[in-house]
Amino acid sequence: MTFIARSFGVAAIVATSALVAFGAQAQEPAQNDGLNGTLWLQTSVEYKTTAMSVFAGATRLLDAAIGDHSWTAALEQDGNYMTKPPAVILDVDETVLDNSAYQAWVVTESTYYSSKTWAKFVHDMISTPTPGALEFTKAAAAHGVEVFYVSNRKAPEEAPTIENLKKYGFPFADEKHVMLRGEIETWGSNKTPRRQAVVDDYRVIMMFGDNFGDFTDEIDGTVAERLDVMNKYSTYWGERWFMLPNPSYGSWESAAFGGDWKKSGEQRRQDKLDAMDPWAGPGE
Ligand SMILES: [Mg+2]
Repeated sequence: MTFIARSFGVAAIVATSALVAFGAQAQEPAQNDGLNGTLWLQTSVEYKTTAMSVFAGATRLLDAAIGDHSWTAALEQDGNYMTKPPAVILDVDETVLDNSAYQAWVVTESTYYSSKTWAKFVHDMISTPTPGALEFTKAAAAHGVEVFYVSNRKAPEEAPTIENLKKYGFPFADEKHVMLRGEIETWGSNKTPRRQAVVDDYRVIMMFGDNFGDFTDEIDGTVAERLDVMNKYSTYWGERWFMLPNPSYGSWESAAFGGDWKKSGEQRRQDKLDAMDPWAGPGE
């Protein structure tokens, strides 16, 4: 009798725990770190107007940048560049093309980024212009400025990338101006060699990205080290370097867990929590 009662008791506790667990799960779906960022990118007026404001500010500076022959935005620019024709460099993903549909798929399917699914997405060519990007690149072209797209999409993705850009009328959407990772052996994920290739023939007056690496390669440090690099180039932001917000993914996220993607998802999440600097709370 005692045995039966105890067994029943244990069973009841297990059953109750299961119900509590199930109830909690039903009310609170599994957390996905990409939800709010992706929702913001895809649906918010706040994101779209921020992107439009970035490109509008740059457009207003075009005449000044073109007219001042000492004006350059590329750290790689050296030598006698003042007589070279002006150009701008823009990243592609989340800078001129909005891929929030892919991120939304990742979130709604509770899955993760993979190069295989990403390649399929790229070949669907359904990315849309980032708000303001088309207007800016057309204005630059109309001012005689060549437009280069330096992206870490991979070389085999060049044709669909060009097609996707052409679909909306982005200027200079061709093999020369779309510079992807791996097209040449030295073109790795680090963008300096590609910026170097552009500055060899052009004066780069502005650069655009959603990721620190779209401007400099000094991006792999700790959160604090990255802030130091940001401050080192404080005069560039909003004048020669234009950052688009991307709360969905980027080197800012991996900086919080030391760039170590081999860590478990749970560990990466813990590292991100630890990277924050919280208020001590209301106390008693
Ligand atoms: Mg990007």
